[in-house]
Amino acid sequence: MALSGIEIYKLLPKTNCKDCGFPTCMAFALKLATKQVELAACPHVSEEAQEELAASAEPPVRLIKVKSNGHEVQVGNEVVLYRHEKTFYNKPGIFFRIRDDEEEAAIKAKAKQIDEYQVNYVGIDLIVDGFAVEAVSGDGKTFSSAISAVRAVSQRPLILISGDPATMAEGLKVINGEAPLVYAADESNWEEMTDLALQHKASLVVKSATLESLSDLTPKIKEKGLADLVLDPGGRNFNNSLVQNTIIRRLALTKNFRPLGFPIIAFPGNMEDPTLEVPMAAQAIAKYAGFIVMDTFSPETIYPLLVLRENIFTDPQKPIQVQPGLYEINEPKPEDPVLVTTNFSITYFSVANEVEGSGLPAWLLVADAEGMSVLTAWAAGNFDSEQIAKDVKRFKVADKVDNKRIVIPGAIAVISGELEEELPDWEIKVGPREAVDIPSFLKQAL
Ligand code: SF4
Repeated sequence: MALSGIEIYKLLPKTNCKDCGFPTCMAFALKLATKQVELAACPHVSEEAQEELAASAEPPVRLIKVKSNGHEVQVGNEVVLYRHEKTFYNKPGIFFRIRDDEEEAAIKAKAKQIDEYQVNYVGIDLIVDGFAVEAVSGDGKTFSSAISAVRAVSQRPLILISGDPATMAEGLKVINGEAPLVYAADESNWEEMTDLALQHKASLVVKSATLESLSDLTPKIKEKGLADLVLDPGGRNFNNSLVQNTIIRRLALTKNFRPLGFPIIAFPGNMEDPTLEVPMAAQAIAKYAGFIVMDTFSPETIYPLLVLRENIFTDPQKPIQVQPGLYEINEPKPEDPVLVTTNFSITYFSVANEVEGSGLPAWLLVADAEGMSVLTAWAAGNFDSEQIAKDVKRFKVADKVDNKRIVIPGAIAVISGELEEELPDWEIKVGPREAVDIPSFLKQAL
């Protein structure tokens, strides 16, 4: 069970020496209780207390890292049930399954297309995390060849899938030195699979038909020396998967139930109806999957899933921001207009994309509005005439232009008079309310 702040405090030296960076042992204890600091930050804990505290300080969902050739997928370490309470930290890794009974050329072509997929969303490059190679052939050599074919075109992390330890051993040889995820240990093979995972510094998926049997199996594997585990509770439809994943997360977080304190793997591609793969993946992103193995790749379906993942795994209390400053779009000259907007990234990209798409040159002043959208920032007093005038001066906009025209968003037309007072040398123009109307405004009104 997790210890409370007071219980932790009783185990600390109580000298208030500040070596941990906190003014008192109590302040440190309270942070430790909410897993916001590492126990190692206090160098003075007695050995007796250390064991008890270390168990309590462990994250309720273990952090698992799957690595390869400079790439890394990190999942787990989550501390809340609901994103509105606090942020979710580590995005689930999205992997695409490659079956080893496919032709080498087909494997390479599929893996290459997925490896090269990259799309920019509000300044963030979205990519697929890796591949799950499955030994459907049951043959070690065929499995190894499929892994080699994937490795020939992609260096991304791998999940290796085979229930047969001998086949798995063949596959692991191909990627010796990487830290893959091995799928899977069950009642019948867990000892051999654990040995293999230990030998190759891999993480291991543990699967079982019920949560009870799953929670019997993980302590046995931990006792053998392997702590980097991932759970497959076996849910392959919407209801089972949601219920099982929720129970696992609840037990881990609210009861500190160690046997289920691990990330979860999901297989949306195993749905009987293939048209349900994408909605199932969306559910897995929202509800607690750490690894998601998909079968069908298409840019049209992966893009919304990656955007959903980005939105679920951003801190709801911190808007995504871009750097305030003066941006040049379509190579503006001194006579071109200055548009102003806020540094909320979605606002910035909406405006910047429309100006860019119009083909007309303009300067875009991105004011520091604490990452809020136009109206929200204005209502909060972060995007008023004073702030805009301040940023016009801070970013030396007057040095770049001859024609001092500044266009403010139509939604804050009300500040135009005040802005004229703040910037007496400038002509203040009111632009459209919506970014989509910027191109016609630039063509007709300027
Ligand atoms: Fe207390 Fe340890 Fe922090 Fe010193 S370093 S204040 S003993 S918790």
